[in-house]
Amino acid sequence: MPHANDTLAILGGPKAVPDSLLQPWPPIDDIDRQYVLASLEGHQHAFGPNCQKLQQEFAAWNGNRHAIATNSGTAALHMAVAAVGCGSGDHVLVTAYSWSSSATCALHHNAIPVFVDIDWETMNIDPRKIEAAITPQTKAIIVVHLHGLAVDMDAVLAIARRHKLAVIEDACQSHGATFKGRKVGTFGHCAAFSLNQNKCLCGGEGGLFVTDDDELRQRAMQVWSFGETRSPSEQRDYHAYALGWMYRNDDLGAAFTRAQLTKLDGYIAQQRENAAALLDELRGTPGLILPTEPPGHMHNWYNVTLRIDPAAWDYDGPAAALRDALLEAAAAEGTRAMVWQRFILPDMTVFKAKNAYGQGVPWSLPNAGEVDYDPAQFPVAQRHCDTHLCLGSPLRAPNGPEAARVVAGGIRKVFEQADKVIDRMHAKAT
Ligand SMILES: *Cc1c(COP(=O)(O)O)cnc(C)c1O
Repeated sequence: MPHANDTLAILGGPKAVPDSLLQPWPPIDDIDRQYVLASLEGHQHAFGPNCQKLQQEFAAWNGNRHAIATNSGTAALHMAVAAVGCGSGDHVLVTAYSWSSSATCALHHNAIPVFVDIDWETMNIDPRKIEAAITPQTKAIIVVHLHGLAVDMDAVLAIARRHKLAVIEDACQSHGATFKGRKVGTFGHCAAFSLNQNKCLCGGEGGLFVTDDDELRQRAMQVWSFGETRSPSEQRDYHAYALGWMYRNDDLGAAFTRAQLTKLDGYIAQQRENAAALLDELRGTPGLILPTEPPGHMHNWYNVTLRIDPAAWDYDGPAAALRDALLEAAAAEGTRAMVWQRFILPDMTVFKAKNAYGQGVPWSLPNAGEVDYDPAQFPVAQRHCDTHLCLGSPLRAPNGPEAARVVAGGIRKVFEQADKVIDRMHAKAT
């Protein structure tokens, strides 16, 4: 266990977390080797039998009637936007703080994202601020269960019903997270999961679109495969009935994902155990605000997101500069702490410049209305953005709670000597 008064690693002291401690994600065993080798020798490398089986197995695991395997979570999100009937000039509500494609997926279909500020406690869209953002053009809301914590779906579904909005869940980070005992991806009209390596279910790259609705499935499939209305497993006539993309995944990736899926429940349990150990060890650290798991929620702890409290050191400069200095020190300790997103979505150029497809499209479409991306409208998202740091990879299996405690020790070491980090920051600035 590192000692809090050891010299900080950025000042030449020993690293709190030895390089050899943390194991890479995901763990690979004979199950993975069997699935992947069987696919390799099966000679159906395009959208093949493993893709079909992955769809059935994931739908069964999550409790959905249908799943469509895709080549990314972003593809599944675009399919969701199209499936619910959002298109040219329609407005789609989305949280002001997320991964870029939670919002660019609307642009892909010429729909326009309208941002809603976040709730400080949950870091998710603030349901109390949704109704004020609804316009006559609003067709849908994309809720992002960020960092593995579900959005309060009672509040969102009530608003959606009142205003006849479609609900899309971005569940790319939240496999297995629940709200009132129900898994995410089963609340809205449809949902998207990611299979990118960093996510809780790894297929290298990939994604899954899920829905219980036959019609939505059909419309999503049209976008998914060349605008054909039929699935590749059925008879195809190679006719593009509508504008489509090529969002199918491949058999090897699906085989790998299926192998990982057999272990997913265990991974999530491990992640929860690790997060509990980490948070237990971090409790009472000066200047550090810990994340919570509100009643009725089961967090999958994809990321444990910490916030700094600059007031703890009477610091009144830019919060992000202090956060970056503390983060640099924490990273030097070998903790793998990182900043997740440095920009709130309305501050990203693709939205600010209002020019996705050229000629100002989709914002310049005749029915688009006025949309304002002034970042000042999203103060909570900005404060979160500037003060957070997060831990993801150290919490993944096969790492256990002992490793999580060592990582926490590295964070504690930095925060307990924050005065030295602040002195160093000031010295560098002058
Ligand atoms: C990763 C992620 C995506 C995109 O998933 P890809 O598979 O990388 O396309 C979308 N939304 C959120 C919240 C994500 O974390």
